Amino acid sequence: MIIDHAAIKREYDKVKAKNKAIRRMRQEEVYARIPRIMEIKKEIAKSGKELTRKMLAGHEVTEADTQAMEKKAKNLMQERLFLLTEHNYPTNYLDEIYDCEICKDEGTVGIHKKWCKCYQKRMTEQLVEKSNMSGTLSAENFDTFDLTIFSSVPDENHGVSPREYMKDRFKKAHEYVGGFDHNRGNLLLVGPTGTGKTFLTHCIAEDLIRRGFLVVYFTAIGVLNKIKEASFDKSYEAKQMVAMMHQADLLIIDDLGTEMTTDFSVSELFGIINDRLIQPRKATLISTNLTPENIQDRYSERLSSRILGKADIWEFFGDDLRIALKLKEYEEE
Ligand SMILES: [Zn+2]
Repeated sequence: MIIDHAAIKREYDKVKAKNKAIRRMRQEEVYARIPRIMEIKKEIAKSGKELTRKMLAGHEVTEADTQAMEKKAKNLMQERLFLLTEHNYPTNYLDEIYDCEICKDEGTVGIHKKWCKCYQKRMTEQLVEKSNMSGTLSAENFDTFDLTIFSSVPDENHGVSPREYMKDRFKKAHEYVGGFDHNRGNLLLVGPTGTGKTFLTHCIAEDLIRRGFLVVYFTAIGVLNKIKEASFDKSYEAKQMVAMMHQADLLIIDDLGTEMTTDFSVSELFGIINDRLIQPRKATLISTNLTPENIQDRYSERLSSRILGKADIWEFFGDDLRIALKLKEYEEE
């Protein structure tokens, strides 16, 4: 199973137990120091019970009764607040404690039980661990981005140097992740191997994962293999993975164009990319060595229009970075 929901559930249970224990310790501490607060708790509970008892006994509970009880409870709460602050406790010191205030450590929010950000973060972390990406993402992120590996010599066709261009894309990528909460556009990163698009893709992924977005990362070949496994082998894991491709906040399809082009691959790629386009707030980042013209030549009109149509296209250029990196290593030696 790709996502071990039971393991995540156990983590949430642990968090709840931990917070409950902390709260109990706080209560014991406060009740020992300020016994009156314990009495207040009992009095509030008692006045509520009295009213219930009256109702159960068949007596009429008037508006005045309810109001009197509410007033009493309010006064008691005010006294409790005063006592807490008087003893230098924060006013919420005895409240329930949560690691995640949004879902109150339930992992889901709302009546539709949508995954909370904290839960998505855990799922993505699991995916990253299982895809052996954790090493890559800790090595390749916005903090480790090194502009000096890009050539500063202006490129004839583009009028700027690769370094200049990367500086600008770096800024754009920052803006992209910064605005991801409100505005999730699609990105198409094109250019030859080793021009920095994979690195920038990793930067974007790492940042969004860290902030709790569900990010799913596959090569085009990987996407198609999972779809095959899910439909032909009926693999449960693959089915789950395909579902994640549809649900992710950001789906990254790396190396588009390295897969074999068949009717199956074209129709499945169309299926997933199109499905994400019609869902609200689902972004897709595609990275490829193909040029936009290649894409049109290689894929059906329908598929290429989905890939190119709504995406912000970033065209990378320059020398193979791996060569530049090697040269840099020699210089440093
Ligand atoms: Zn949460």
